[in-house]
Order: sequence, then C-alpha cells, then structure tokens
Amino acid sequence: MVSPESLPILVVLIEDDPQIRRFIRASLIDEHYLVKEAETGQQGLLEVGTRRPDLLIVDLGLPDMDGIEVIRNIRLWSSLPILILSARAGEIDKVNALSAGADDYLTKPFGMPELLARVRALLRRATRTHTDDESSVCFGESEVNFARRTVTRNGVAIHLTLIEYRLLTLLIQNAGRILPHQTLLREIWGPTSAGKPHYLRVYISNLRRRVEQDPNVPKHILTEVGVGYRFVLE
Ligand code: CA
Repeated sequence: MVSPESLPILVVLIEDDPQIRRFIRASLIDEHYLVKEAETGQQGLLEVGTRRPDLLIVDLGLPDMDGIEVIRNIRLWSSLPILILSARAGEIDKVNALSAGADDYLTKPFGMPELLARVRALLRRATRTHTDDESSVCFGESEVNFARRTVTRNGVAIHLTLIEYRLLTLLIQNAGRILPHQTLLREIWGPTSAGKPHYLRVYISNLRRRVEQDPNVPKHILTEVGVGYRFVLE
C-alpha cells in the first residue's frame, strides 16, 4: 500500500489484550506500517504525545482508564484519525465514542481485512483534508463537481434538492468515517431538528436512488445500524 520512497506511516495501537495486539501489529507491519504499542491508556497518551503518529487504534476497555477518556484527551490537541476497537456492541457505546471524537469504530471480533480497509480509508481521508483542492469527486458511476455544484451519473446531470446536495457533500467530505444521526441532523437541519431521524432516512433513501447503482444494496452510502451513516469513496 505504501510506496518504498514515501515516509512510513506510524500507527499507535493501544490495546491491553496481548493476543489481539500481536495479531493487529503483524497485519499492519505486513502492510508496511510502523507500529508502536501501548498496553494502558496512560502509556498510549504518552506514545501519541511524543511520537505524533498518523493514526491511532484504541481499545475502549483498558485497565487504567476508559478508551473514551483517551480520545477526549487527545482531541484537546490533535485531530489525528482515531479508530476504536471494542468488545461492547451496544449502540450507545458507539455513539459515545464517536461523540468523543473517534472517526470510526470496529466491534470485536473483526477480520483483519476489515481493519486494514478502515485504516486505509481513514488515512486517505486525513491526507485529503490536508491537500484539499479537489474540485470534483468520482464514486461508482457518479461525479460531484463542488465548484459547479453539479452531480452527474454516467455523464447525465442529476437534479438534487439543496438539502440532498448538502447531505451528499457532507457525507463525501467525511468519507471513511461514521457520521452519527445527530451530527447529520444538526449539520443539515440545524439544532432544533436533532430529534427527527425520519427526515434523515427519507433523504438518505432519495440519495441512494440517485447515486447508487442498486439503492437496496448501497456501496457508497452505508448504514451503520443504530449509529449513523458512512460514505465509502471508491
Ligand atoms: Ca481490552
């Protein structure tokens, strides 16, 4: 994934389970990432503070502190991409972790291909935000031109309402990370509409009909059950 002449990408991994740690480290090293490990939240905070990694993977259940505390602490001074690992499958835990500033979330047990795909997506997104001068983005058969505010599918213009367009561009700008329902509602409809998730369902299904090849099996606008939506840009 990383070309030999580019700088190695450093990942800090905070996980107290030695077996999972070993497993993740081996997979990341296979993909030419550098990995620094930490077993506790405190040690992890130190690694992140001193080494300034490109990405953080953090387990929520740590011996000395909650992973959510780690995220809150880091978000005070850094916007590095953060991927959460958790044995807790509860939706409230996901929402809490995402509200604390995590970018994505994997529930244990997970497969390594899935973890590596999330890592790549988060790194791509981080790189894009730093050098963001793209005026258009392509995915599937669709293209969004931000400068002209147009959307086409197979070269044919698609007419989106203002809200549909804003929702689509918000998803694209955050490609690779989960956007919680509340965040989307607040950003698009303002603070008073946060309790009306049905708005979102209607608009998401409209958008899928416009930009997905098969709206019933979406490849770009993905549902994160009980949490929100995630846009996949490829
Ligand atoms: Ca743990």
